Amino acid sequence: MAERRLARGQRLVIATHNAGKLAEIGALLAPYGIETIGAGALGLPEPDETGETFAANATIKAVAAAKASGLPALADDSGFCIAALRGGPGVRTADAAMLPGGGRDYAVGMARVRANCGEPDDVGAWFVCVLALAWPDGEVEVFEGRVDGAWVWPPRGANGFGFDPMFVPAGHVETFGEMDPATKHAISHRAAAFALFEAKAL
Ligand code: IMP
Repeated sequence: MAERRLARGQRLVIATHNAGKLAEIGALLAPYGIETIGAGALGLPEPDETGETFAANATIKAVAAAKASGLPALADDSGFCIAALRGGPGVRTADAAMLPGGGRDYAVGMARVRANCGEPDDVGAWFVCVLALAWPDGEVEVFEGRVDGAWVWPPRGANGFGFDPMFVPAGHVETFGEMDPATKHAISHRAAAFALFEAKAL
């Protein structure tokens, strides 16, 4: 497939209803002169994430937004994977923290995931982030970033979000929750996916 790049001044839909993701991606793209618009601001519906892989779910979100808006669209899908759970919770990471009455609690989610692990010999774990860039004609390109390490228990640190306090990246001693955010952002799965996206699409 020929490389298709986003031109300066291009309007790009960010296929998320999450204000944090929108701000983070908008800041990254600003130096390239790309104008970002959130899916929520365009009144686009949130499609169900029915895929079995990060790439499938990022693609579902990006394609739906590109088709509905007539503009290129970028979506991200990410999660936490544990060797002892054969890659779980994986695409269902956000669900692992879901409370019965609605809403999410990541302390509860981490405790549930840890309980499912038992006492395995292999404490390997990794985060994945997939970015999907979809064009209105249906073409899609995906960029996958990953950071490997180990899970620890109990969780440590109050920085970051989600499952950060129970993950120590390889070659480090602090969890993502203990690290200063700039250190995490330099080595994270999201940084790796963005680096590929920048190299190929910007
Ligand atoms: P998504 O919004 O469907 O992509 O959900 C991804 C889920 O994976 C989030 O709710 C977080 O719990 C988890 N996750 C993804 N990236 C990170 C990270 O960098 N740190 C901690 N948790 C993460």
